[in-house]
Amino acid sequence: MTARVLVVDDLLPNLKLLEARLTAEYFDVVTATNGPDALKICERGECDIVLLDVMMPGMDGFEVCRKLKANPATLHLPVVMVTALDQTADRVRGLEAGADDFLTKPIDEIALIARVRSLSRLKFVVDELRTRAATSANLGVTDATRHTLDDGLGGRILLVDDRTNSAQRICAALRGPYEVDVNIDAHESLFRATEQDYQVVIVSLGLARFDGLRLCSQLRSVDRTRHTPLLILADLEDRQRILRGLDLGVNDYLIRPVDKNEILARVRTQVRHKRYADSLRSSLQAVMELAVVDPLTGLNNRRYLESHLAALLDQAALRGRSVSVMILDIDHFKHVNDGHGHDVGDQVLKGFAARVKRSVRGSDLMCRLGGEEFVVVMPDTNLATAELVAERIRSSVAGTPFPLEGSAQSIPITVSIGLAESPGVEIPAAFLKRADQALYLSKNSGRNRVTAAAA
Ligand code: GH3
Ligand code: MG
Ligand code: MG
Repeated sequence: MTARVLVVDDLLPNLKLLEARLTAEYFDVVTATNGPDALKICERGECDIVLLDVMMPGMDGFEVCRKLKANPATLHLPVVMVTALDQTADRVRGLEAGADDFLTKPIDEIALIARVRSLSRLKFVVDELRTRAATSANLGVTDATRHTLDDGLGGRILLVDDRTNSAQRICAALRGPYEVDVNIDAHESLFRATEQDYQVVIVSLGLARFDGLRLCSQLRSVDRTRHTPLLILADLEDRQRILRGLDLGVNDYLIRPVDKNEILARVRTQVRHKRYADSLRSSLQAVMELAVVDPLTGLNNRRYLESHLAALLDQAALRGRSVSVMILDIDHFKHVNDGHGHDVGDQVLKGFAARVKRSVRGSDLMCRLGGEEFVVVMPDTNLATAELVAERIRSSVAGTPFPLEGSAQSIPITVSIGLAESPGVEIPAAFLKRADQALYLSKNSGRNRVTAAAA
């Protein structure tokens, strides 16, 4: 997915330069020449990440950043401050305003692309969580206003560093607001990180007996630490390894000798992000636990679908990408109940749901509309692709009868499918209706087939 980058600078030549570099890397670029315009663009949700010049007449970059981070509609946008001077005081001020990162002019091309890439990845994950959290708020399950950025203080930090002086320095900077555990062994650190609830793990790239990047990649692949913020400590000449680390999912880095204020500010930023994402995730959990799940199949029900589909349609419109939907209705299901009993019918419904679920992507949303009718919503999918998926499902259902628990018997069934695609400027009911009309055509033309609604 391509990120849309908003570049804010009062000087046109600076804008043009950044625009050219980002466009060359296939990012979409939007520009603004002053703070108020930038705020409006962000509020309208027209960008994924902000590159913000510090020195601007009127409202300066720090103020724009503070406003973005204070507004619930924009606080999740990653902000990179672009400063003319490489001054720690400026950087700390930026971090205190809530900035996520900095670039110093003249801008280093590799650092620019690496930072934009890693922050836009973060943004897409948070976007999905936000959409889901908004759905739970709409349903009245949770309260959207409780998702705010806290002060980012308190909690435990794990520092993996075998240089005594460096470790002492960092501890001195962080102790007080945080409890710091120091470990010099990578294997033990990995174990500890999965046992303890650390707010941040800081890993030195200069470990004598272990590759710090390997530890980072292991921390990223273990479920328990997948979302734990990772910071690396590097030397200036470690550039390539820093970039590699960012690719692996490291969140941020610090160059030695570490400035006390800078490390404290960077750790705070990471803790804030983590708590924000954690709170979004927990509201997602709350939704799942409530009445939006169909008990027979474990799928989301119609109530969840209607609410989430509205959000997905809005997103499709914003991103200029289609969303497709498929309605599936089992053919002559009444015969199954009549011939084998309701319990067998239930078993077939369960098996059917599981089989279809296996045929769609993790990012697709499958729901039970009711009875023997199901819906699969496919974000970022056009009608042609949706038809391939639908045909695959149709033939896999018809191809293998559904076995029954504790019996040698299996029940052959077929399914009729209707498809529709939407650019997003449409209400959920109208969109579903078009798919339903296509389903009706499948039923009328003999069942066990797929029909796509005309675009
Ligand atoms: P068509 O091909 O036209 O879709 O025929 P059909 O028999 O599948 O359609 P119809 O809508 O007439 O009947 C659906 C049947 O599904 C009727 C109902 O008893 C059964 N059904 C609905 N919900 C459940 C359920 O939770 N469990 C079981 N076992 N059956 C269900
Ligand atoms: Mg039906
Ligand atoms: Mg049916």
